[in-house]
Amino acid sequence: MATQRILDFINTRRPNGPCMVLDLEVVRENFHNFEMALPESKIFYAVKANPAPEILRLLASLGSNFDTASVAEVEMALDAGASADRISFGNTIKKERDIARAFELGIRLFAVDCVEEVEKVARAAPGARVFCRVLTDGAGAEWPLSRKFGCVPAMAVDVLRVAQQLGLDSYGVSFHVGSQQTDLAAWDRALGDAKQVFDALAKEGITLKMVNMGGGFPTRYLKDVPTAQAYGQAIFQALSKHFGNRLPETIIEPGRGMVGNAGVIKAEVVLVSKKAANDNVRWVYLDIGKFGGLAETMDEAIRYQITTLRDGDRSEPCVLAGPTCDSADVMYEKNPYPLPVSLTIGDEVLIEGTGAYTTTYSAVAFNGFEPLRSYVI
Ligand SMILES: *Cc1c(COP(=O)(O)O)cnc(C)c1O
Repeated sequence: MATQRILDFINTRRPNGPCMVLDLEVVRENFHNFEMALPESKIFYAVKANPAPEILRLLASLGSNFDTASVAEVEMALDAGASADRISFGNTIKKERDIARAFELGIRLFAVDCVEEVEKVARAAPGARVFCRVLTDGAGAEWPLSRKFGCVPAMAVDVLRVAQQLGLDSYGVSFHVGSQQTDLAAWDRALGDAKQVFDALAKEGITLKMVNMGGGFPTRYLKDVPTAQAYGQAIFQALSKHFGNRLPETIIEPGRGMVGNAGVIKAEVVLVSKKAANDNVRWVYLDIGKFGGLAETMDEAIRYQITTLRDGDRSEPCVLAGPTCDSADVMYEKNPYPLPVSLTIGDEVLIEGTGAYTTTYSAVAFNGFEPLRSYVI
């Protein structure tokens, strides 16, 4: 929910046009909750969720590490005050010259998921640590990341063997159980796979040291989600079940769970209309849509909580759409969104839990609409 600081900011500054307002105090609290939930794990904030410099500086000052996916993100983390040993290059798809540049900047931890990528890292970042990403099915996640990244556990064994042969330090295994993952058992399955890779390589004399347990920690949208503490307990139990009392080093990479609930988008109703006089479904058009930062409404995957000043009034389902001239710019239609019947042109609405994956998803000037403005307070 919008914090009082966010509401005060919106009400006193009256920013014109849609904008995302994020409260750093909530990020600070989220970081501490992750620390308490998984005290033995290092936190690598997934920069892509929201790379605002104020967020990166705060997290750097709190002792966070950073998961980055490009040279630009590496530089943002360095600029925020993180030393290179606190930054991983976690994208499995990298240009060799970008690996070389990151290596020059001091980065020594890289993700891979195939032999072809290992060969690039071995040439451009000799001696660096690598971890191999294994596939997960993404079941239980509202924004699954399956298929594109990772390989099957048996192949991860080959990949890490080759890495060692090419002079790299085969350091561990990573996975991502899918973003907005509300099934606590997802980590158990993935940790079982990670342990298989550890065991197979141990037989060959290669001792892995680390499991990178990725992100997936949720933001509360319309439905309640388990607490960070519940995630911590489930993950610790799964770790103990698979690794016994010889626990590996562990990393978590929260993105959404670190910043999602810290931000709110202020938007405005541009039009309320119907397609026929006797239609009973209203169309509500906002000044923000899929191209203005709400890309995660693709396939109606993420269902945000929308609050209005008329929330006490009777509500009816409506189609919710953005302002651009692209018919794909509809957020909720298959599953219409209930909004007050009294909602009218010019009304302000708040889209809650939008601190992650919004500002950077916004198009630069589609239809001349400026990118989503961001205020970090
Ligand atoms: C996007 C991403 C994350 C963050 O995922 P969330 O579900 O937002 O926590 C973590 N690790 C990697 C490798 C990612 O690509």
